[in-house]
Amino acid sequence: MPYGSSVMPAVAAVAADPSVCAPLPVLGRDVAVPLVTGGEVTYAALDQAASAPALQRVWDDVAAYAPYYGSVHRGAGYLSQLSTDLFENARRTVAEFLDCRIEDSPGEARSGKGGGGRREGDQLVFTRSTTDSLNLLAAALPDGCEVFVFETEHHAALLPWQRAGRVTFLDAPDSPAQAVATLERALAARDPHGPALVCVTGASNVTGELWPVRELAAAAHAHGARIVLDAAQLAPHRAVSVRELDVDWVAFSGHKLYAPFGSGVLAGRADWLRDAEPYLAGGGASRTVTRRADGGVDVRWHETAARHEAGSPNVIGAYAIASACKALTEAGFDALAAREEALVRAVRDGLADVPEVRFLSLFGDDAPRVGVLSFVVDGWNSSHFAAALSAEYGIGVRDGLFCAHPLVRRLLGGDAGGAGECGAPEAGALNAIRVSVGVGTPEEH
Ligand code: PLP
Repeated sequence: MPYGSSVMPAVAAVAADPSVCAPLPVLGRDVAVPLVTGGEVTYAALDQAASAPALQRVWDDVAAYAPYYGSVHRGAGYLSQLSTDLFENARRTVAEFLDCRIEDSPGEARSGKGGGGRREGDQLVFTRSTTDSLNLLAAALPDGCEVFVFETEHHAALLPWQRAGRVTFLDAPDSPAQAVATLERALAARDPHGPALVCVTGASNVTGELWPVRELAAAAHAHGARIVLDAAQLAPHRAVSVRELDVDWVAFSGHKLYAPFGSGVLAGRADWLRDAEPYLAGGGASRTVTRRADGGVDVRWHETAARHEAGSPNVIGAYAIASACKALTEAGFDALAAREEALVRAVRDGLADVPEVRFLSLFGDDAPRVGVLSFVVDGWNSSHFAAALSAEYGIGVRDGLFCAHPLVRRLLGGDAGGAGECGAPEAGALNAIRVSVGVGTPEEH
């Protein structure tokens, strides 16, 4: 273990900074795990970018609601009515959290049945995850839509578009300004009459770096394109305002936002969603279904968010996301971001004197980032390093290619690869280590 003595304690010593706010309470803070070297230790989850533990507040809210669980949009009984109200209130809470464009709307929306229709402007669809949200949007693209996406994206934002339309993959930029210039150049070369969509991340799941979303949105709109923000890593760490950023859609996952109950969100412009075929065909998405004289069936689909929410919705997942949104808003993103920056700084400072450590970044080591940091240690296979951190210190980090193969390959110099799509690559393959923190990360880790 050539560098174990210096690198591992540095990761293990994410120091306390009394000047920053206390973490919000989360579940799993005091879980003991056995060490291979003997004894046990309190588990330190430094892998919040993958999945974050539930906030205690979310858990309490879900537990309080659980006895009242009932069907949504499908029953006259008390539990059904209550569940429907909670589900629709969750939709409103999350739309407010995202600062969506919301106006009152006439027509079908006022009927109250079908869900999600009381407000026009933006629609907010509850999905399973960011992956699901972006695949839903890909399925709703208008005919002939061109899609522009940087090669640096998580696979969830990189891959759905190929099935749906013509995709231009943009080279990784080495600065936020170059990202905007690259996009502008690509958009200027397109046919300005057809529909186009830009998909961009708010914060990288590999480097944690913040992307210039507002500027990219301005560039997209200047060239008649629309833009969807992958906020899977941004929403848990920074306030996301659809209006301020002027993005057309935003997608994120509950399980990264301290609400791990199986829901995600796609929110944004109603028109493409309303004009598209339902993502899933079935009950809840259909307004009326009539047998025709020729034996076939005519369907009138909802024009609200319900159009893309066929089947019984995950009310607990939606309720949990809304609960997390309220808790994070009350805690305040400025305070949360300051605390996370201190935690990341502690890891960086701890590793600064170890020459074998190389951080991964596109925009430079000092670029603003959320609580996500990836690095390699020369002489170490990253998977072995991560396994040793777990076995000897009880610290859970992520190793591998982080479902962003083109980006990690570029940052590591081309030879990255291996068997696992998102997991650990084959032994010996070049890969990286990721440390990520969030509201539940105790300082002493
Ligand atoms: N986008 C980014 C930036 C991510 O980090 C992730 C997950 O790690 C996703 C999308 C996909 O999220 P999910 O697996 O919840 O669909």
